[in-house]
Amino acid sequence: MIDFHVHAGQFDLLRDDIQGLLTKRPFEPGFDLRAVFSSPVELEKYLRSYGVERAVVLAECGPGTNFTIDSEMIARFAANSPFFVPFGSINPNHHEVPAEFAKSLQVGVRGFKFYPADHGFDPYVQEMMKVYGECQERGLPVMFHTGKTGQRGVEPKFIQPEEFERIARSFPKLTLILAHCGRPSWYQSARSLALELENVYLDTALVEPVDLRREYGDLRDLRHKLIFGSDWPVAGSYAVLMQKLEEARITPDIADDLLRNNARRIIDAIPAAA
Ligand SMILES: [Zn+2]
Repeated sequence: MIDFHVHAGQFDLLRDDIQGLLTKRPFEPGFDLRAVFSSPVELEKYLRSYGVERAVVLAECGPGTNFTIDSEMIARFAANSPFFVPFGSINPNHHEVPAEFAKSLQVGVRGFKFYPADHGFDPYVQEMMKVYGECQERGLPVMFHTGKTGQRGVEPKFIQPEEFERIARSFPKLTLILAHCGRPSWYQSARSLALELENVYLDTALVEPVDLRREYGDLRDLRHKLIFGSDWPVAGSYAVLMQKLEEARITPDIADDLLRNNARRIIDAIPAAA
């Protein structure tokens, strides 16, 4: 399987309260989160032990990470193994956008994740619209955080899937992934967009498999639009997540699309030299 939503980087550089929160997540007995989060070799070993064959690792250059997990760090994290697919991040409140975009391409990111809600920016500002246009041109997928955010003091703006509709329509060839399916309140608006617009996909990060089934039924209509993501380490133990997936009893052929085929199609479509 492929995990399209994994966080990694350098644990001791995360904001103190985030370190505290993550360490309190339930992990496997004896599990060393700091080591696994910070080491590509350890993380690959951990994920592979659960059958993961590739993982998209996401930069997040914002307050929660003390702005440290930027495109460069995540590209470096992914540099020594084809197991990892690095997605960069640009935060207009922190970066000079064109320069950071150019740098991200140069260090070798293969897509981007943007966090307008968590980072408090308007995704429709001109310089970001230019970035989406460039990503479309270069075949790089773009992911947006949607749904509730864990970030403190965040205005509930740009968290609803439909707030990204105009971007999806403006760039019809841009692969646009709405992370978290708009959980917990906007599952249906995420679904409508994914069904209506060919370029829109939903990642299941942090969506409990049982919620996925309750909201989307047998997943058949969305089978080519759903991408599995764990949001590890926020998700906690991978073993528990795998157990929950199993208990959700997703039909095997649909599970194959969710867990592997859709993600593989997207990753394989990214040009080798971005
Ligand atoms: Zn995440």
